[in-house]
Amino acid sequence: MKSSGEAPAPVPGGQQLLQRMFTRLGCHGQPPHFTVEFYPYANLTHTVRFRKGAARVRLSDLLRDAPREVLEAAAGLLLARAYNLRAPRELRECYRRFCLAPETQRRLAQLRQRRCRPMLRQADHFDMAAMFEQLNRRYFAGGLRRPQLGWSVRSWQVQMGSFDPTLDRIVLSRRLDRADVPRFVVEYVLYHEMLHVKHPGEMARCGLRVHSKAFRAEERRFAHYDEARHWLERLHD
Ligand SMILES: [Zn+2]
Repeated sequence: MKSSGEAPAPVPGGQQLLQRMFTRLGCHGQPPHFTVEFYPYANLTHTVRFRKGAARVRLSDLLRDAPREVLEAAAGLLLARAYNLRAPRELRECYRRFCLAPETQRRLAQLRQRRCRPMLRQADHFDMAAMFEQLNRRYFAGGLRRPQLGWSVRSWQVQMGSFDPTLDRIVLSRRLDRADVPRFVVEYVLYHEMLHVKHPGEMARCGLRVHSKAFRAEERRFAHYDEARHWLERLHD
């Protein structure tokens, strides 16, 4: 999700920082030329896009005042994800501490209320409310309360769903609301977000993999877990 209003700004020393993390993670080959900016995402989202030996890195501008080690951790986790490497434990811990800190959560909630687009889109293909009720009966004994449900206005590139506790809303990417997407894939993404409704303590806002083992175990109860994950991975290739 993107913001409105505030402008991107270069991260001082950003290129050196990314190169340092590139080396520290043991990424192979010649490092790309990094450009690094703080970007006014509506979430604690960080992205990297590679093009012709260059990498454009955008870190959430919520990190603007964060300590250097948090910036390093966010950059390191982002690179680890991009290069399919396991990030060192201390980076994950550092970033997780930052995400869960009450001050971060407070600022995040403010940011989202300011920047989140309230608009949702009408469904083209899937009836998400009916799907929610079916999943609720099957996996939650009908006990999960229903937040607001909707499809994103834009097609998201990376994340396919989100649960926003501040707005009490599950939004799925409109990319999934199409006839060529298998129903079980949409169900899987919705089921994942429903688990976030059930476990509000889980950190869902980082845009990085910070789900607990218990969360992941419960996620694997989904009947078409492997097929759905496989289908989504192909989508990103
Ligand atoms: Zn999640």
